[in-house]
Amino acid sequence: MKFYYRDLFIPQTATADQIKSAYRKLAREVHPDHSAQSGHSDPARFHAIGEAYQTLSDPSLRARYDAELTAFLKRRGWVLCPSCGAHNEVPAIPESKVALCGRCRTPLSVTETERRSSQVTALREQAIDVVAELGADLLDVTGDFLHGKLQGLRTRFAVKPRKGVG
Ligand SMILES: [Zn+2]
Repeated sequence: MKFYYRDLFIPQTATADQIKSAYRKLAREVHPDHSAQSGHSDPARFHAIGEAYQTLSDPSLRARYDAELTAFLKRRGWVLCPSCGAHNEVPAIPESKVALCGRCRTPLSVTETERRSSQVTALREQAIDVVAELGADLLDVTGDFLHGKLQGLRTRFAVKPRKGVG
C-alpha cells in the first residue's frame, strides 16, 4: 500500500487546490536540479511525490485509491492523521488522554471506544483474510484441533458426548 496523502503531507480531505500546492512546494524542495544549491535533492522522494500527485489529482484515480486505502486501514485498525495524512497505529488510549499523530503530533480524532471497535473489526477482517487465503484447509485444522481439545476435556472430566456432538 502506498501512502499518497502522507507523501504530500496533506489530509485525506484535501481539496484539488491543496493537493496541487502541496505537490508544487514539495517538488521544488526535492527537485533533482536543486542539489547544487541546497543539497536537498532527493530523486526517490521526488518520484514518490510525483506518483502521489498523479493519482490524487485525477478524480477517478483518487476515488479508487481512497477506497483501497480505506479498506486497508480498516483491515489494520489504523487511523490517518487529519493533518499530515500519516497512518497511525493507535495502541490503547489511556483515560483522559488524546492520541497524537506520531509524525506531526496533531490530535487524532479517535476515542478509546472507537479504537477498540476498529481493532475488533480489524481482527475480524484479518481472520477473514486468513481463512480466504487458506480456505478449507484451515477450517479442517481448526475442526480437528477443537475436536481433539473437546475429547481431551471429556476424558478429563468424564463427560459423555452429547447426542450429535463429537
Ligand atoms: Zn500527522
